[in-house]
Amino acid sequence: MTVLEEPIKEVITLRNYINGEWVGSESNVFRDVVNPATMKPIAKVPISKAEEMERAVEAAREAFPKWRRTPPLTRARYLFRLKELLEEKFEEISRVGVMEHGKTIDESRGETRRGIENVEVAMGIPSLMMGYNLEDISRGIDEYAIRQPLGVFACIAPFNFPFMVPTWFMPYAVATGNTYIIKPSPWTPISQTKFIELIDEAGFPPGVINMVQGDVEAVNVLLRHPDVKGISFVGSTRVGRDVVYKEAAAHGKRVQAQCGAKNFVVVMSDTAIDSTVASVMSSFFGNTGQRCLSGANLVIVGEDDAFYQRLLRQVVEIASCIRIGYGLDESVQMGPLQAEVRKKQVLGYIEKGLEEGAKLVLDGRKFKILGGYPENCFLGPSIFEDVTSDMVIAKEEIFGPVMSVLRAKNLDEAIEMINSSSYGNAASIFTDSGKASQKFQYEVQCGNIGINVGIAAPMAFFPFGGSKDSFFGDLHGQGRDAIEFFTEKKIVIVRWF
Ligand code: NAD
Repeated sequence: MTVLEEPIKEVITLRNYINGEWVGSESNVFRDVVNPATMKPIAKVPISKAEEMERAVEAAREAFPKWRRTPPLTRARYLFRLKELLEEKFEEISRVGVMEHGKTIDESRGETRRGIENVEVAMGIPSLMMGYNLEDISRGIDEYAIRQPLGVFACIAPFNFPFMVPTWFMPYAVATGNTYIIKPSPWTPISQTKFIELIDEAGFPPGVINMVQGDVEAVNVLLRHPDVKGISFVGSTRVGRDVVYKEAAAHGKRVQAQCGAKNFVVVMSDTAIDSTVASVMSSFFGNTGQRCLSGANLVIVGEDDAFYQRLLRQVVEIASCIRIGYGLDESVQMGPLQAEVRKKQVLGYIEKGLEEGAKLVLDGRKFKILGGYPENCFLGPSIFEDVTSDMVIAKEEIFGPVMSVLRAKNLDEAIEMINSSSYGNAASIFTDSGKASQKFQYEVQCGNIGINVGIAAPMAFFPFGGSKDSFFGDLHGQGRDAIEFFTEKKIVIVRWF
């Protein structure tokens, strides 16, 4: 067992980044950021006051006129420089992700890579942002559609992908000529600080990209401030739907709110068990189940009992051998939950499942932790059998390493289960049948569909959003949707003669 070197050696006091300066917060409220594997504090994060966020909005507003006049290729060059710096610090950022969140190092490297890919896609802005034109719409008259930036945009980020999530938005926003504010999660605020250090080094002009640490008070400024043109939120449905979408839309802003999930993975009995089980493992237990694209309900289709038993036995067998420990140990396959409160919530759902009469065939409460780390946030994978779709554990987002196994008579019944869920983030099917896959893709009401793929995570050049209670807004993050979200069209008609 070799534990990689920790990049954070002592407790850091985090600061805000406003108008190109690192500024200590005026708040007298600071929270401890704790490494969930070791339970050692690694940072103190300020819960910034409203006035501090107001200053960031002011800086971004003032930086906008000059930044939007900066040619797109020049704007892209800042991103090229940022991408180089991100590659240089790739390993450090990934290890910080392990320390603040509890991921395994490979999960964290995957997150960093996905974040960099968004910067890379946004580097193509001179082509991505082009408008279109048509000549001779009438004699001697041409018409153009041009895209223009709007002003100040902001991202409100969740705890579970602290480095990557802001990259679904910010690179596209600044590449199109807007200015930006990032409000990281107070639970995992360090990797964004590292990101901003590189943004500073890349030399973006002051005020173009700002970061304010904090929580509700800082968010409320963003939702209501007349100079903020749009909000990208990623987090729970409760906050995204009931607070952010409502409030920001009521204040006339563009909003995209990517929210909670309860994802189904459907397995047909014609599928190859070995490759399916490997994908199912990573889908349900990757990132310790704290992923909006995680599998939560495994639906095994058909009345073939032998197939059902074989699949379930294999899933339980492999899950029971998962190596649990500190993610900086490269042999570890699953890290802790991000905080004690999250473990408490997952334990509550395990109790609930037992009360509801589901059968706990693998009990995550009884796992061994490698390396003798404190147990506070650790929990092994749990698997419930005999789950029915009316049970709470089949309906609510647990956000932990818990698999509920359900049975469906046929594909229609499986699709009905998915479509009656209030969430619509992702669903996957494993099958050899083209007909079943096509039906699944056509009929399932979810934003992200996997066919023989357990985690249907869109690449940076495709939009990422969900459906139903998983997404509120019109345009998704990433890809072409991001270009649309961060620009408005102006139509110009010219009479030449
Ligand atoms: P959360 O809703 O608790 O917090 C998200 C952000 O909102 C944080 O920055 C937080 O400071 C802020 N916030 C919290 N309460 C607020 C309030 N009352 N008013 C204003 N702002 C508030 O979410 P979380 O626990 O950090 O993240 C986990 C959730 O995010 C899960 O539900 C997960 O499914 C979801 N998620 C969704 C996606 C997606 O793409 N759909 C991606 C990642 C995570």
